[in-house]
Amino acid sequence: MGTARNNTPLVLFGGTFDPVHQAHISAARSVSRVLGDAPVHLLPNAVPPHRPQPLADGAQRLAMLELACADHPCLIPDDWELKQSGPSYSLLTLQHYREQIGHRPLVFMIGADSFANLHHWHRWQDYAALCHLAVVPRPESPLAADVVLSTFPESDAGSIARQPAGLRLMLQRPFLGVSATAIRQALAEKGDCPALDPAVVAHIHRHHLYNVAKFSSPESDTRPHER
Ligand code: ATP
Repeated sequence: MGTARNNTPLVLFGGTFDPVHQAHISAARSVSRVLGDAPVHLLPNAVPPHRPQPLADGAQRLAMLELACADHPCLIPDDWELKQSGPSYSLLTLQHYREQIGHRPLVFMIGADSFANLHHWHRWQDYAALCHLAVVPRPESPLAADVVLSTFPESDAGSIARQPAGLRLMLQRPFLGVSATAIRQALAEKGDCPALDPAVVAHIHRHHLYNVAKFSSPESDTRPHER
């Protein structure tokens, strides 16, 4: 996966992706671009330790990620967490990828809402030896704890490319007020949502996810934009 001479960071972006939406894709593309077209692995979790279980199963969430990432070569759906047993602690994923890539920079990408809770995560202090953080802004997110800010000093993309771990990149955009919770609600109420890739909407209808069954029609199974 990495060689000693490859200093392009590897970015990991974990989440429930229930379903993957426009803010996930925009944020991942921005982080990739800022870090020199770095590959971003999007990892749906199997058993999220900090929140209720997703509605769609792992295979469905991965399938929707594959559809949403199809036109973006830097975005790579990754089933590593889905294949593990037990709670999907990000620490285990970071340790796994750190072993794979040697001293190449590793970046853990996170929305500002999750960043504000990082000090509650399993062994979060250990992250600093394993990865950098890339924090994507999210409307109305609280500030992170001081101890988290001081553990990961704020830096820039150039510095991140020069060392394996320990720094923090704060993105200024995108700033999209989109959430999977609101999207699931819109799907259940209207059967559609503009913040989703059309191919993902078609998949949701085809597989009757998120209570869209009442909106499904034979036509929805043969939408032209299904990939
Ligand atoms: P839910 O509404 O079900 O909580 P979500 O939209 O927050 O879902 P997740 O899959 O839980 O999506 O999020 C995965 C990652 O994406 C997290 O780090 C989260 O902070 C980030 N994220 C999600 N939505 C946004 C957004 N609109 N802007 C920035 N980051 C986001």
